[in-house]
Amino acid sequence: MSELVNSIRERYLGTLDKIASAAKRSGRSPEAVKLVVVTKAQPVEVARAAIEAGAVILGENYAEEGVTKIQSLQNFSAVEWHMIGHVQSRKAPLVAEHFNFMHSLDSLKLAKRLDRSCGDAGRVLPVLLEFNVGGEESKGGWEAVDESRWATLTGEISEILVMPNLRVRGLMSMPPLGETAEFSRPYFQKLRRLRDFLVSQLPQADFSELSMGTSSDYEVAVEEGATFVRVGTAIVGPRSYITEHA
Ligand SMILES: *Cc1c(COP(=O)(O)O)cnc(C)c1O
Repeated sequence: MSELVNSIRERYLGTLDKIASAAKRSGRSPEAVKLVVVTKAQPVEVARAAIEAGAVILGENYAEEGVTKIQSLQNFSAVEWHMIGHVQSRKAPLVAEHFNFMHSLDSLKLAKRLDRSCGDAGRVLPVLLEFNVGGEESKGGWEAVDESRWATLTGEISEILVMPNLRVRGLMSMPPLGETAEFSRPYFQKLRRLRDFLVSQLPQADFSELSMGTSSDYEVAVEEGATFVRVGTAIVGPRSYITEHA
């Protein structure tokens, strides 16, 4: 086995161990947490090595870059490809045709385009709704900083819930990056509270998945209820290039 696969395997297994410990600390089952290995801005060789090292879910941020990797690695048919980055509406067909799961559904406009594209492709796409719980302008998602305004979110969400080709499964967030993992805890707690609020308002819907936590804070995210963590650099190393995503 190659050096690259070996080193990724070691870090992948180490991450799984830490996830399991964090889950147990908070009285959760380790199986309740799924690890998304983020291969954005990594060459296809690194994505291949991650799969050979045991990764079963890969996360990509940019539609074209992801599709290139999906097509070169399609022999690994058991692998799931998850879109975790902002998608422009005109790229919706790429996601609908090639990805297995979408974490970053961040507007009604995109939902409409994705639903239509999934219909054209004859596919049904599981999605998470992305919320901005940290208030940063640069971050995507429905604005959800002010808890007193959460009730205003349910209108658009209700429209998405009845789209025939999308299946809402939960919530996702990418909070501000702090100096320590603990800095993220209140944001993760807030996303979970928002989930509980939406469950109370829209009891017919499924919001069981919470996608939160990256290399710097995934253990805290698991303690706070994450069912997906999205870990890149801690497993596959520093990103090797900057992609153009105009
Ligand atoms: C890049 C990225 C990650 C992974 O970040 P790392 O610090 O490399 O673990 C997770 N989620 C999203 C949305 C990202 O863009």
